[in-house]
Amino acid sequence: MIEMDKRINLTGFSQIELVSFIEQTGEPAYRGRQIFAALQHRRLQSFAEMSDLPRALRERLQETASTSTLTVESRYLSEDGTRRFLMKTHDNLPVETVFIPEQHRDTICFSSQSGCPLQCTFCLTAQLGLLRSLTPGEIVEQVIIALNDAYGVGETSPRGTNLVGMGAGEPFLNFDSLMKALRIMADPQGLFIVPHRVTVSTAGVVPRIRELATIPDRPNLAVSLAAPTNEMRNELMPINKKWPLEELLGACQEFEQTLKAGERFTFEYVMLDGVNDSDEQARQLANLLNRHDLHARVNLIPHNPADPLPYQPSPATRVEMFKSILESKGVRAFVRRPRGRDIFAACGQLAAVTQTVGLTAS
Ligand code: SF4
Repeated sequence: MIEMDKRINLTGFSQIELVSFIEQTGEPAYRGRQIFAALQHRRLQSFAEMSDLPRALRERLQETASTSTLTVESRYLSEDGTRRFLMKTHDNLPVETVFIPEQHRDTICFSSQSGCPLQCTFCLTAQLGLLRSLTPGEIVEQVIIALNDAYGVGETSPRGTNLVGMGAGEPFLNFDSLMKALRIMADPQGLFIVPHRVTVSTAGVVPRIRELATIPDRPNLAVSLAAPTNEMRNELMPINKKWPLEELLGACQEFEQTLKAGERFTFEYVMLDGVNDSDEQARQLANLLNRHDLHARVNLIPHNPADPLPYQPSPATRVEMFKSILESKGVRAFVRRPRGRDIFAACGQLAAVTQTVGLTAS
């Protein structure tokens, strides 16, 4: 029997909410600010570590509130330094997070749902189905755990941290929790990861793209296309049957028109050998984007193979040819180098894989 933790998770509270929660317990407001900083700035994950709080208060809080609800089950290290964390929620559902170190910055790829309800045929996560959407606290805690693992509890990271919402799940089907988590993480007295350091990727949930166009403090947007025609996209990304390309690109156009200096908007195109990578498909893709007057860059992502999936990555020469056709038609294109493939940490590979030859796990 799984023991459910019914306590309130303070990691999912904004500073204002935490202050008001603490005031309701009869404590002064500054204690709320102190606890927010302990959780979000010092990245402490238990009341016991908050030794600047009176013991009696810590004991009282412990009964009704929690500071951490995720448990790290396994941690895998890639040859390229990427770390993949397989975590469990308090109700025993898988959550995956990936930490990717780079020369000038680190990137943390977080999950917005446990599993995913969308059925993209090139993605291993799809095979889990939707288990449930994650709470704001569960989204924030993934980032805290990854930073603490890389640098030690409360230690300042030597490089900036970027976030990408490209782990398991469709972030825009958990929009309110996602936006709340991003606002908590942007607080200067907390993690202080501001929206322009965050990119959220959607499979094409049109109403939320339109909503994001109206929000001032928003993350960067990436839209996954994977195909230049409705026929092919219906097959690869069945969400296309609900919001077909014309509708999706119409919303993208509206969004692009609201872009402010410093904001980024990109398309993602997974490259599947012999499926969506021909010269003709490159021309179709360029024409489609040009027809909609879209100027966003296209990130070409060689598919990350995973055993039950029926696809192979496009060869490097094919990817280059595809890229040059796009460029010849005025579309900016960029090839994204896969990270952490050997530990099933790359895009589309997150599906709670726990046993693979050659993994370094702890
Ligand atoms: S690619 Fe993204 S949206 Fe599609 S099934 Fe996988 S996790 Fe869900």
